[in-house]
Amino acid sequence: MAQQVSETRLPADLPDGAALTQVPPEYAPLLDDLFAAVERYDAEPDRELITRAFVASCLLHGSQSRKSGEAYIHHPVGTALNAAELKLDSGTIAAALLHDVVEDTGTPLEWIREQFGDDIAMLVDGVTKLTKMHFTSQEEEQAENYRKMIVAMATDIRVILIKLCDRLHNMHTLCYLSKQKQIQKAKETLEVYAPLAHRLGIHNLKWQLEDLAFASLHPRKYQEIQKWVAQRRADREDYVEQAESFLHAALEQAGIEAEISGRAKHFYSIYMKMVRGGKEFNEIFDLTGLRVLVENVKDCYGAVGIIHSIWKPIPGRFKDYIAMPKFNLYQSLHTTVIGPGGKPLEIQIRTFDMHQTAEFGVAAHWLYKARGDRDQDKPSWLHQMMEWQSETGDPREFMDTLRIDLFEDEVFVFTPKGDVKSLPMGSTPIDFAFAVHTDVGNHTVGAKVNGRIVPLHTRLNSGDIVEIVTSKSSRGPSRDWLDIVHSPRARQKIRQHFRREQREDSVQSGRDLLQEALRREGLPAQKVLTAKVFGRICKDVGYSKPDDLFLALGSGRLPVRTVVHKVMQRAGTMKEATPPPEMLPSRPVREVEEPQALSGEFGIAVEGMSDIMVRMAKCCKPIPGDEIVGYISLGKGITIHRHDCKNALALMKNPERFIQVGWKGLGGMAFRVEIMIEALDRSHLLEDVARTLSDSGVNIIGGSMQTLPDGVVRDRFTLEVGDVRQLDNILANIRGIETVYDAYRVVSG
Ligand code: MN
Repeated sequence: MAQQVSETRLPADLPDGAALTQVPPEYAPLLDDLFAAVERYDAEPDRELITRAFVASCLLHGSQSRKSGEAYIHHPVGTALNAAELKLDSGTIAAALLHDVVEDTGTPLEWIREQFGDDIAMLVDGVTKLTKMHFTSQEEEQAENYRKMIVAMATDIRVILIKLCDRLHNMHTLCYLSKQKQIQKAKETLEVYAPLAHRLGIHNLKWQLEDLAFASLHPRKYQEIQKWVAQRRADREDYVEQAESFLHAALEQAGIEAEISGRAKHFYSIYMKMVRGGKEFNEIFDLTGLRVLVENVKDCYGAVGIIHSIWKPIPGRFKDYIAMPKFNLYQSLHTTVIGPGGKPLEIQIRTFDMHQTAEFGVAAHWLYKARGDRDQDKPSWLHQMMEWQSETGDPREFMDTLRIDLFEDEVFVFTPKGDVKSLPMGSTPIDFAFAVHTDVGNHTVGAKVNGRIVPLHTRLNSGDIVEIVTSKSSRGPSRDWLDIVHSPRARQKIRQHFRREQREDSVQSGRDLLQEALRREGLPAQKVLTAKVFGRICKDVGYSKPDDLFLALGSGRLPVRTVVHKVMQRAGTMKEATPPPEMLPSRPVREVEEPQALSGEFGIAVEGMSDIMVRMAKCCKPIPGDEIVGYISLGKGITIHRHDCKNALALMKNPERFIQVGWKGLGGMAFRVEIMIEALDRSHLLEDVARTLSDSGVNIIGGSMQTLPDGVVRDRFTLEVGDVRQLDNILANIRGIETVYDAYRVVSG
């Protein structure tokens, strides 16, 4: 929660080593509180180190204040107090005090390193990097990625612990933020930080985070539950006391020494039980419970035996998490019995050691022990967890989500919108581009990492924000990319592109081959290939689509003579019948007549009539795919207009003369359209346009060019196309031509 960010400090602004021993008198009580908290678990903290970190934080944050109006120093101290709750070592406490100075005061990390050493500088740097991450997505999968990313980015587990302590303090002061910010932070806490605390086994922190977020997101529900719990407090306390003393006596008799306490449920977990189980508050019977702490594992099982002998256990509620620990190494025996007064009572039994783990997780087993009295024989919490993972068969849930050091083979990077992508270590912007979308990958021409243009072979690091620069006119991936990329997906997509390109080349050369051969026979090559009958010729020689036939021709699998022969056969039979319109020589540059034919030949269905003469309106020149209307012109059949044609709209005065029409399948007819191309003039422009049009396989019927004084060229062409889709492709191709800035269909006037 950066309150304000000042520019990078000059060395002259920075306090010197001597200044760091002068505690500002007005803040001395804060430091005293902190020492009191630390000394509760550590008799000999590094007072000098903590004091210097405290003074540095006071001086560097200077006059900054929190949204609450308090001096900023309250926040680092709050964070450090939370770290003391977790019983963390003096170095971590010092780092907690300094956690915001790089991000919020522009102090160079170097200065921290000089004053406090590598270890603390590394911790501050780690927390600063995590602070820069912002969780924006609503998706659960993204939340999961964020958790992974936090774990992957933290070089030291203490970085995460400080971040959690920081978040906890911010949640305590959430009310000073805007409502919108409160909701965002609370969601982020529930989706990212509380589950992270859970995975690390730090339940103590997890519950606090959850309850604070819950209070902020659902204030009414929170208050209700709080009220219910309070109303029953007296009852509950009596009940617990009664059960406790009864159990105590029974255990003592059996020679088991135990510490028994009542156990309050946390509000958020009550709420979740109500939401998930659809239960009313009254039905959540295990609202109260007992916790029994004993010396060793043998006593755990002994105690549960005694409990089951004095109170009747509820079947199916006994769980042995000692033999089968949870993924975060939580160990305990759980049972629910019918307790005094016939009320259900939930009891947890565990050793003192297990209890430490349950409350503090990784903090208990790894960090506190790491101080001075590190127990070499005992594997670290982490190590223990890994071992346990390899022993049990089904560790997926844990391993998939928390791999601490095993994450080394993955990097997590951001899209400019803040989504996280996970990529194999060593990945480049090209891998990222293909992870975003194949189209993005195929059109990549450059990349920015953290706002700066970088070469495409740059290796990405976790936390990088990657932006891909694409261009429609890019020629597609380069073969060199295959040597650069690291992700299987990118490699596969690039190969696919080249295979397709190769195929396209073969298709094109097959088409050229056939056209050439047809021309030699004196046949109108272009017309034949776009004619409906050509589809039948394809099927005759065993190919379902023209492109497949061209491919076979291009790759030499099919002799071109075979196809020419077929075409001549078909053309022979066609000559005897009326030549279909598409086979007519089409030269007229100026259109006098509206194209006219039987509706079926245009591929048009007219409501209630089979084949009727229709004509395509000259004004708007409809083509398949356009929304059309039919107007009954007296004695001349039906004129087809686009539904948005101005003339058609004018004719709507006589609605009775309109008839329902629509496209039905392919008529096989070519349709005339006019297109306008706007471009900046350059040499060979017209050549490029003409080539693009002929490459698209359309006929150019006519055209006019106009160069305006400002160097803008307006080219208008009349084309014959099959349908809207083909036209759209053509227009897209034209827009890809250098200096063309627009290409569109002219529909009237
Ligand atoms: Mn902070």
